[in-house]
Amino acid sequence: MNMLAIAAVVLFVVTATPYVCYLLLYAWLRPVGSPADKEPAEPTVSIVLPTYNEAQIVETKLDDLLALDYPMEKVELVVVDSSTDETRAIIRDYFADRDAPELVLLEEDERRGLAPALNDAYAAASNEMVVKTDCDSKLAPDVLREAAANLADDEVAAVTGQHVEVLGGSEVEAGYRGIQSHIQQLESHLDSTLIFHGPFSAFETDALLPIDPNSLADDTELALKIRRQGDRVIFDPAVEYMEASHSAFGKRRLQKDRRGMGLIRLLVQHHDALGKYGRYGRVVLPFNWWFMVISPWLVALNVLAMTAAAVSIAGLAGFSVPVALAGVIWLGQQDLLGPLQAVYAVFDSQVSLLHAAIELLRGEGDGTWEVDEELREVFE
Ligand code: GDP
Ligand code: MN
Repeated sequence: MNMLAIAAVVLFVVTATPYVCYLLLYAWLRPVGSPADKEPAEPTVSIVLPTYNEAQIVETKLDDLLALDYPMEKVELVVVDSSTDETRAIIRDYFADRDAPELVLLEEDERRGLAPALNDAYAAASNEMVVKTDCDSKLAPDVLREAAANLADDEVAAVTGQHVEVLGGSEVEAGYRGIQSHIQQLESHLDSTLIFHGPFSAFETDALLPIDPNSLADDTELALKIRRQGDRVIFDPAVEYMEASHSAFGKRRLQKDRRGMGLIRLLVQHHDALGKYGRYGRVVLPFNWWFMVISPWLVALNVLAMTAAAVSIAGLAGFSVPVALAGVIWLGQQDLLGPLQAVYAVFDSQVSLLHAAIELLRGEGDGTWEVDEELREVFE
């Protein structure tokens, strides 16, 4: 065998090993559901809703929140609005003749970005449990009860939930979320999970801390900081929400690359947490470093190495490797890969993370972005 081929195989094995280890750990522990000692609880709740030009969907979102199975006298809604459209007026009208939940509307004159807006909203939240939710998401009716039951465990100070259905029908996203849900259950059973999701994250109000004004991963940052304070932050698949997503390769890049930038930057900022905080710093953070920071570069190197090896063995015919890869991407983004769709979804996220890393190295990544209009359409 030639040296290039050996190098390509070795590289592939190195890249795959941490994934195989996580799979084995999963098979060994078989984590199911939440690791918390859940107990029925009914704390007072502050629902935090940030809005930027959501006039198209905000009323649907409010209907959805008010329909949650929870006593609305125990709920306050803290909206922080930075819109230039009618979002604010729509919200005010909506609450004009309602007693509950109570509305706290924070109005920004100028858009500063999501993280500073959220810091203000969290500071204004006065109830025992704070739930942050994005406008372009739908929550299962029992989310507040499920979240409260998790927080009733003394060790647990934050809980996020599972993306159960992808509005807009993207199979790429559904495939990725399926894998992510298993990983997050494993992490939660080991200690705590890293990623917290924008559509639904719940926190004990006492545990809240300010987030970096430039943050592009606000929910995850909050969870990570809370874990660093000592409490567990977990994922519970019984906490369910829906969010819209694209399948098309190009359309996925914008949102996923930005989210990737937020996560990579956060991991790098908190590199000193590696090795500390029990299995969180010894297993969960290292795996996420591997998946988000290191593996995307290795995946790109694998493609190069395999192409080089194939060309060295088969001459020009070796270029069928990148051509075949392009074919797989083309099929994958059209949701045509069947059972391989989930593997494609992981590849898709590696592409985003690589692009995100390059953007970060180029100094990109301030705290504002274009809100995706197309994803709002599936809500009407
Ligand atoms: P994505 O899901 O990660 O693509 O992020 P979105 O564009 O859906 O934004 C998440 C939530 O934050 C939505 O409810 C937006 O309306 C809101 N949002 C985004 N940017 C800002 C901002 O600058 N200020 C405020 N107050 N809310 C924002
Ligand atoms: Mn969104």
